Amino acid sequence: MSGYWDPSIERMPFDELRSLQEDRLKSIVRYVYDHSNFYRQRFKEAGVGPDDIKQMDDLTKLPFTRKVDLRNTYPTGMFSLPVSRVVRYHVSSGTTGKPTVVGYTKDDIETWSESLARALTSIGLGRSDVIQVSYGYGLFTGGLGLHYGAEKIGATVLPTGVGNTERQIELMQDLGTTAIACTPSYFMHMVEVAEKMGVRIRNDTKLKAGIFGAEPWSLETRKRIEDATGINAYDIYGTSEISGPLFTECPQKNGIHIWADMFLTEVIDPKTGEQVGDGETGELVFTTLNKFALPLIRYRIGDLSVLDSEPCECGRTHPRIMRILGRTDDMLIIRGINVFPSQVESVLMKIPEVGDHYQIVVGREGPLDVMTVRVEVTEKGFSDKIGDLMSLKKKVAKELKSVLNISAGVELVEPGTIPRSMGKAQRVIDNRKV
Ligand SMILES: [Zn+2]
Repeated sequence: MSGYWDPSIERMPFDELRSLQEDRLKSIVRYVYDHSNFYRQRFKEAGVGPDDIKQMDDLTKLPFTRKVDLRNTYPTGMFSLPVSRVVRYHVSSGTTGKPTVVGYTKDDIETWSESLARALTSIGLGRSDVIQVSYGYGLFTGGLGLHYGAEKIGATVLPTGVGNTERQIELMQDLGTTAIACTPSYFMHMVEVAEKMGVRIRNDTKLKAGIFGAEPWSLETRKRIEDATGINAYDIYGTSEISGPLFTECPQKNGIHIWADMFLTEVIDPKTGEQVGDGETGELVFTTLNKFALPLIRYRIGDLSVLDSEPCECGRTHPRIMRILGRTDDMLIIRGINVFPSQVESVLMKIPEVGDHYQIVVGREGPLDVMTVRVEVTEKGFSDKIGDLMSLKKKVAKELKSVLNISAGVELVEPGTIPRSMGKAQRVIDNRKV
């Protein structure tokens, strides 16, 4: 079992942790009321003030906030401090509308790094590791976020960013990278490129861990990555609005620990806004407890997950969220049925003849939605006879139907046909929106 970065917090008894949360909740509500015109106005509209928040249960008296609030107050209208106190901006490009801008004080950056220091330590990384950060650097939070966290634990950072894949693999070998952080789809691309260079990750590199996120990925993909390369693949979570990448799975690989001294987590029914119990799927809502440039109160992330507050076998008392099913924004509605790209992925990755890359193409035939899943066949699968390809196509269609409850077309393509991505993979092409 790996060590702890800060055992006094990570193993803090549940009651103490809860009372710490309660204290911090009261302070942050008072703080935003005093410092942010946006929150003061929003609380007044909801008929609630700092004095109404006396205990944890009072949380539900507070109104939700959403991404649209950040857009409507673009660029810095939700900030609680003047820009002179802000030491960094990150900006996430919106596919629709204005981007969202997040500001950080020096202490906010410190808290963010502390969160990742705990996470990276929990998966066994430390001073003797070389961590290759292959997330984008810049306005996106992935690169700099991991960078600061990795430096904090004293690891050696190799800040490759995205792209130039062959060079990344050479450096991985020459400088002895032991852990890599990037999107899972980019890592799968890297493995492909490495093989073409005659480099086998398992035998020819020191890589032992991958920290993969920024796009939803399935347990089946984890199994593929681990079987192919011999590394341990961990899920990482966070979104730009609440800081960036913040939390990872612990070695139990049974949920992502959310540091409760920093964040208060709720899971709600997205339709009614009511909290749902542990074990029930709903939308994640976070309240930042010690972030000061842009604190967020009951912020609806849009990601669907399940909360588990039971103690974890790793000894940490902080609650876990289960693997993200997807964003409510990513959910496709096909002929009235909800489909998450991650469901399609989990079906495909169970079929050995199917390659690692796929796309979902949605369109219309007359009034009807049609969905086609375009998948690469593995080199091995492709050399087979036409008859075998036909039966593979039928097999994929049948498995998809049994999980999704709708029929999808299946298009098998040669290995290497689907465009590879360096960052977030474009899995869905929805032609209905055009
Ligand atoms: Zn754990």
